[in-house]
Formats: sequence, C-alpha cells, structure tokens
Amino acid sequence: MASYEQNKLQLYNSLTGKKEVFKTINPGSVGMYVCGPTVYSNVHLGNCRTFISFDMIYRYLRHLGYKVRYVRNITDAGHLTDDADQGEDKISKKARLEQLEPMEVVQRYTIDFHNVMNKFNSLPPSIEPTATGHIVEQIEIIKTIIDKGFAYEKDGSVYFDVIKYNKQHHYGILSGRNIDDMIANTRELEGQTEKENAQDFALWKKASPAHIMRWPSPWGDGFPGWHLECTVMSSKYLGETFDLHGGGMDLKFPHHECEIAQGQAAHGHSPVNYWMHANMLTLNGKKMSKSTGNSILPEELFSGDNDFMQKSFAPSVVRFFMMQAHYRSVLDFSNDAILAAEKGFNRLVEALKIVKTLQSGASSTVDVHAWQKRAYAAMNDDFNTPILIAELFEATKLIHAIAEGKQTITEADLSILTTTMEAFFYDVLGLQDASAAAGEAASNHLDGAMKLVIDLRATARANRDFATSDKIRDDLAAAGIQLNDGPDGTSFTVQ
Ligand SMILES: [Zn+2]
Repeated sequence: MASYEQNKLQLYNSLTGKKEVFKTINPGSVGMYVCGPTVYSNVHLGNCRTFISFDMIYRYLRHLGYKVRYVRNITDAGHLTDDADQGEDKISKKARLEQLEPMEVVQRYTIDFHNVMNKFNSLPPSIEPTATGHIVEQIEIIKTIIDKGFAYEKDGSVYFDVIKYNKQHHYGILSGRNIDDMIANTRELEGQTEKENAQDFALWKKASPAHIMRWPSPWGDGFPGWHLECTVMSSKYLGETFDLHGGGMDLKFPHHECEIAQGQAAHGHSPVNYWMHANMLTLNGKKMSKSTGNSILPEELFSGDNDFMQKSFAPSVVRFFMMQAHYRSVLDFSNDAILAAEKGFNRLVEALKIVKTLQSGASSTVDVHAWQKRAYAAMNDDFNTPILIAELFEATKLIHAIAEGKQTITEADLSILTTTMEAFFYDVLGLQDASAAAGEAASNHLDGAMKLVIDLRATARANRDFATSDKIRDDLAAAGIQLNDGPDGTSFTVQ
C-alpha cells in the first residue's frame, strides 16, 4: 500500500481553495519549501505546531516512496518588527537589548529551535539555508526585478512596485485580497513618502548608520527585505517552479503573496504549484501571545514548570495531541484536552506491545485489508490525521479482541496489522514510545552530569592535583563509567 502510485493523494491547495490530486513536476520527486523560524527568541508552541504539521506531511510523502527535497530556511536577517517595512530588524533589536552580537542571538535561538524540534521527533529538512548566507543571490534577483520594470530604487532602498505588477498579474491571488480594497483601506502613513504606493514592499532597505546588520550593494549599504529570502532560497534549491510551499496561516499575507509576486516578476511564471497553510494553536480558547501572558514554551510543558497544566507531558504526547486535529483546523490547548490525549496515546502504546504477543490462527475473523485501506484513505484525503488516529483506535479494539480470543487472525494478516500500525505510529505520525523518550531524557541528564565531572577532573589535573583526578577516574570506573582521554578532550563510555 505504501506507494504514491497506488495512493491517490489529494491535498488542499490554498491557491485554488480546493482539494486537488497531487501531481508532482517530476514523477516520484517532490520539492517542498516551508518558511522556517526567525531566530530571535525561543520557539513557542504555536510555531512548533506548524513545523510538526509539515513534518508529518514530509513523513507521509516519504512513506509513499517519494524522494523529497525539503528546504526549510532560518531567517537570521531582514525580518522587521513591522509588516509595513518600518521598525527594527527583530534580530538586531534582540542583540541591542541583550548586548550581544546579532550572530550570537542567531546561534542561541537556532540551537534552541533544533533542540525543541528534536524532542518532538521532527526530522531535519534536507537543506536548511540562512538569509545571511544568500545575500549575493538576493542582490542579483533585485537587479533582475528592477530590469524587468517591477521595482524601483529610492534613496538607497529598493521597493517592489505592486501597482504596476497588478496591471499585468494578480496581486492578491493567494490571499483573495483585492488591490482596490487595499488602497481604499490604507491610511496615510507618515514618514513613508519614500514608497510610490503604500502597498509597495521593500526588496532592499538602506541601513541607517546605527544599523549593525548591513551589507554592501549597488544601492549602498543595506539589508534585504524579509519576503525576498524565501524566493531566493526556494528557487535556488528547488527551481523556479516547484511542487509544494508551506507555512503558517499568518504568512499567507503579505509574506506568501509577496513571494508569488517576486517569483512571477523575476522568472516570468508562478513559483509554486501547491500552497499549504497550517492553522494556529490557541491556549485555553485564546490566541497565544507573549505580551498577554497567554503563552507556553515547549520546555515548560515538558518540565511541568508552568501555570497552565497540572503536570508535565512527554513531547510525544504533545505531538499526538496535535495530530488529533487536522492541520488546517484551529486547535485549542488546555489541561483537560492534553490529559485526554495522554490517555489515548497510552492506549495505542499498549496496543503496539500487545500486537507483538498475539498468536495467529488458521483463519481471520477480522478484515485487516479493509482497515488498512481506510487508514490510507484518511491520509490520502489531505493528510487527515484525526481520522487516521480513529482507525488506529479501531485496530486497538481488534488487537484486544484477538488477545482475548474473541477474534482470530492469520499469520499474514497479523503481519499486515503490525507493520501498518507501526508504520503509521512511528514513521508517519512521528510518535515515540514515551518510556523510550524517558530513557533519552535520562541519558541527557547523564551527559550533563558527566560534563561537570570531566571539567572538575580537568581542573584538578591542571592544578597538578593528581590524587583527585585519579580518584575521579577510578571511582567512575568502579561505577561502570570509563573515561577516555583523547586529543579532543575527554569523553566517556558506559560499560
Ligand atoms: Zn518565507
């Protein structure tokens, strides 16, 4: 069953507002781009939901046998605090407030993002490019857009001419917005006289003398506009037109609308065949927002150190909770909802253990083929994970009935039941047995403690206190931990 040729995958295309049969540009291959995080603060749970949704989509495409090139960028420059090309660069602002180099901010929160995604068992993308690593390409594409007549320079900044573009193309094709309404609803913005029209957006911004993140360009020192990096990095790694572009619902306008306009202006055709948007996560019925305090970080959820939940929850339980909703639906996070999800998750984990102990019989009284077909049909219908999970619970009932001798199953059917259950639970939904995850957490704690012990021993040796350094090594050996000194420092192995 696990082949894209046998499975007619349909997905909801935000561009057309319809479910469509998924047809790739190259048979068997998928080019997929997802807008990644702006790394200026700890990734919040709402963002995690978007990335986990696309991780599930990536996993299912791979499960169907597609060769997927998955590009997800890191925004480390150019994202301003205000959508209207005003305000400060988010990274520069954080650097100023914390008295850090901008690249220290980027490094800190990129690592945090990777750690959190790792805990959620989210697969890394095939390529994870950064905006600052593609300044040259961004300057080149701006030159092209100016040459094609869709952008103009004004006092060291370059703006995309939305009005002119809209005369030949459709600005608003993705978001459904109408340019005349946009103009009618625009207030006179003070200090924005530089733009010819308020709808125009920046491709390049002149850097003020105080702006730290700056690069030389034909228009003087400046920095690229946020929308441009995604056009540049997606076309560089996936081609001028590629299969699938994803992101959070909030990016549809203006970010993705601008991406379409830039791609069309630079390359003469629409950049993406299927646009997909994941919906948001609310907390106790309200939008998550740091400023109102209605917000929770993934780490606070895993540790239980928060004001919203009565206990801690394993990352896989949180992931399972998210998978119980369709990626296009708003999902509300609450104490009761996650507790219920944990019960369901544990039932599935238990069933996965029992299924391995089942005895096969001469005949099957259960129709495993029909069940398997329904499970795939759910996923082929725009990645409908809630229906898939309902089918996994149906299988759980079957497994208990077989274990209790109320139903029988042949060896061949048992094999289909087991492999299909495991494939959906582990590979497609990306879930892990919480006890395995707990083992991993314990090993992380050991790593932390051992780093401390190794540092203490190194200090003792540096002070020529060999009695202490030998005692640390010998006592650890007695406890079954072997220290290995090498040219790159000391590592350890558990015997
Ligand atoms: Zn983007």
